[in-house]
Amino acid sequence: MRLRRNSENEEQDRALPHLLISALSQLDGASMILAPGDIPIYQNEAIDQLGILKDNRIESQELLALIRVVRRTESKQEGAIEFARGPIGEGKHELTVNVIPLSQDNLVLVLLSDESEAQRVHEVRRDFVANISHELKTPIGALSLLSEAVLGAKDDPESVKKFATRMQSEAKRLTDLVQEIIQLSRVQDSDPLKIAQEFGVNDLIKEAIDQCRTTADARKISVNFAESIDCEVKGDREQLIMAIHNLVENAINYSPEGTTVSITSKVENSIVNIMITDQGIGIPESDIERIFERFYRVDPARSRQTGGTGLGLSIVKHVINKHGGEITVWSSENVGSTFSIRLPILTNELENGEVT
Ligand code: ADP
Repeated sequence: MRLRRNSENEEQDRALPHLLISALSQLDGASMILAPGDIPIYQNEAIDQLGILKDNRIESQELLALIRVVRRTESKQEGAIEFARGPIGEGKHELTVNVIPLSQDNLVLVLLSDESEAQRVHEVRRDFVANISHELKTPIGALSLLSEAVLGAKDDPESVKKFATRMQSEAKRLTDLVQEIIQLSRVQDSDPLKIAQEFGVNDLIKEAIDQCRTTADARKISVNFAESIDCEVKGDREQLIMAIHNLVENAINYSPEGTTVSITSKVENSIVNIMITDQGIGIPESDIERIFERFYRVDPARSRQTGGTGLGLSIVKHVINKHGGEITVWSSENVGSTFSIRLPILTNELENGEVT
């Protein structure tokens, strides 16, 4: 529970009823009480996590408009608002709002809950289940055919060996698919900004590269990271490492042997831009819009060869959007691709070598 008073405001000595504050502190959603002038005099932790206040003022024009209606009509209003999760990117909070006039001193109670987000997740999940069943059918069908082939060839050790090897690779494909499905559903369900930790970007990149070493060595691809000034971001460390890892792994998988994958990072206007560049096959212009869709692959046969599931980039996009950032791609066929992750950094960091 958090009680905040503005010392320059005459509200400072107002005593909020204890019963009201203790009731609000029991609620799951975000709640705040506003004095005239829309100054928050009480807010719970969930309000801080949402980031709906900037310098102790409400930023959302939609919410301010709803509050104005409540003050004018002195009656309760319900509505839905959206506001950006960060200064860039498409990630949005979608909230149901209840604004209630309190009988005392022109105070207004604002209650915010994430019901619309829950509804959206439900719809996404429904589509997703339909896609998954289709994707799972392929390796399961292959395993069933191969097991029949093994039985039919039981007197021919060479054939048994060949079919068993293919069974192994189909089983691996099935495991990878299930693992990525679980990862995606975890990412969709969680809100990394709610359980946010703070950590250095250089460490995230190094950890993600380390996880790709075996694949890179097997394909004789050198992965270079030009370390620059470090900065800190806020969110879920494991999810961000997974996002960078997926991009580096793709850069390796879609490049010819002996080429180089380069990772750089730079900070500008409180945003860190992490760029992963390869000298690979590139992505045709007609496909570039679709590569972040679940299960979309430019060349399903090639993706299958490298053990791709078509889920990697949609996981990356979810993770980055949920962190209030954005992902963009530049690509040219037979030249290479650059994937850029842009994330808001914690302020008071070093920017272009200077303290801001
Ligand atoms: P996959 O598991 O198939 O790699 P992703 O979601 O990671 O799935 O990527 C979707 C598709 O985008 C891939 O199948 C591939 O066609 C294309 N792609 C992704 N990264 C690259 C890259 N660095 N270079 C060329 N094509 C890429």
